[in-house]
Amino acid sequence: MEEIYDVAIIGGGPAGSTAAVLLAQKGRRVVVLEREKFPRFHIGESLLPYSLTAFDRLGIRARLEAGAMQKFGGEIATACGQRAVKFYFKDGFRLKHHSAYQVERADFDKMLLDRARETGAEVREETSVAELACDADGVTLKLAGGSAVRARYLIDASGRNAVVGTQFQLKTTYAHLKKFSCYAHYEGAQRDKGIDATLTRLVRADGYWFWLIPLDERRTSIGVVMDLADFKARKLSPEAALDWAIRDSAVMRERMAAAARVSPVHSAGDYSYRNTRLTGDRWMLAGDAAGFIDPIFSTGVFLAIHSGEQCADALDEILTNPARRPRLFRRYERGLHGLMDKYLRFVTAWYRPEFIEVFTTPTQRFQLAPAVNSVLAGNIGNSFAIWWRMQVFYLVLFLQRYMALCPRLDAKTSAPAPQLEPAA
Ligand SMILES: Cc1cc2nc3c(=O)[nH]c(=O)nc-3n(C[C@H](O)[C@H](O)[C@H](O)COP(=O)(O)OP(=O)(O)OC[C@H]3O[C@@H](n4cnc5c(N)ncnc54)[C@H](O)[C@@H]3O)c2cc1C
Repeated sequence: MEEIYDVAIIGGGPAGSTAAVLLAQKGRRVVVLEREKFPRFHIGESLLPYSLTAFDRLGIRARLEAGAMQKFGGEIATACGQRAVKFYFKDGFRLKHHSAYQVERADFDKMLLDRARETGAEVREETSVAELACDADGVTLKLAGGSAVRARYLIDASGRNAVVGTQFQLKTTYAHLKKFSCYAHYEGAQRDKGIDATLTRLVRADGYWFWLIPLDERRTSIGVVMDLADFKARKLSPEAALDWAIRDSAVMRERMAAAARVSPVHSAGDYSYRNTRLTGDRWMLAGDAAGFIDPIFSTGVFLAIHSGEQCADALDEILTNPARRPRLFRRYERGLHGLMDKYLRFVTAWYRPEFIEVFTTPTQRFQLAPAVNSVLAGNIGNSFAIWWRMQVFYLVLFLQRYMALCPRLDAKTSAPAPQLEPAA
């Protein structure tokens, strides 16, 4: 007779491993089905302070403290070098944690998956889920190769592969967020001194933006994000597009003058989407498998861990008291949709020209800058104190379209029109 698990989890990334650790700690029978062998490369290296409470709960804080670079804030700059503003989490509105971590995801994800094993979850790597079938008592997962796994409940944490969303055709994309990104690791990128060397830097040009994430003493993760249509029109390979964008921006030329690429260039496209449903009778979606909204504010891993926690807590309660399922699933759907709506609004604002004008003119009036800082740290804005300040921030952004409340950026800020080069 086939073994029946309480919960089967597709994917051993941050969402899946988080749920596995928490369920296993409660004594539930959990299996994680992961198609890769860890460690494996993954993008998403800058974490947020609001995940620290979860790291304590997962029992991995000390390991992160010992091995990962601490991050104290961020910087947003214009590509021409005209304006830049740094922010530090210590100045955030009522922030409990004043730092987070920059991590190499291969190591971070392996650490979390190992933790799931340690706490008693069964982890099967190099095991790919092909499809699922639900019935009144549970779910059967068909594995590539022909065997099957049976569980009472399923958490789909398969990342952007979104096994459930794809099978049930739940995925919807955002017409205004069709982006393309190319990224790699470099050594020798110029950094500032002291804690400024730990900041995530965002460099914004007219039509594309960069991230620079320090990973350790030497290596920096660097990526560029542009419209998918622009990338296609340029007819460049991802390597050539990344090289071109670095040469095109004055700030990046300076920071990268002595830098050498030490990894292949990876790329991803059209990655922002959401599933119309986040729960079914027997399944819940967590992390990117539920939805992903643009890398700009580094919210991906935070949302993956947060939703992994929520799924684990809900299912643990439901396994004891099945009658609570409809209510808890509804609450999960509402909460995660609400959170994604908040970030969607913030991300949409970033891609408008006035965002950078307002953001690089921070004001302490009404503690607006500390409130925005706090949201960037992962404050999900459930308190009224954050909520009304964010409404004022959006009002200022809206008014800035029509009147210069904050100094306008002059035309030089825009990157010059690209000189197209043939694909390498
Ligand atoms: C360009 C870019 C930059 C980003 N930068 C950041 C950043 O700086 N900070 C940040 O927090 N986030 C960032 N993100 C987002 C971040 O990468 C994701 O949000 C995060 O990895 C989501 O975690 P997850 O556990 O949901 O999914 P994943 O980490 O993708 O894990 C899913 C796992 O499921 C496995 N899997 C998939 N299909 C199957 C299957 N059929 N069977 C078995 N296993 C399967 C995969 O192998 C994978 O290991 C970025 C994203 C992009 C696209």
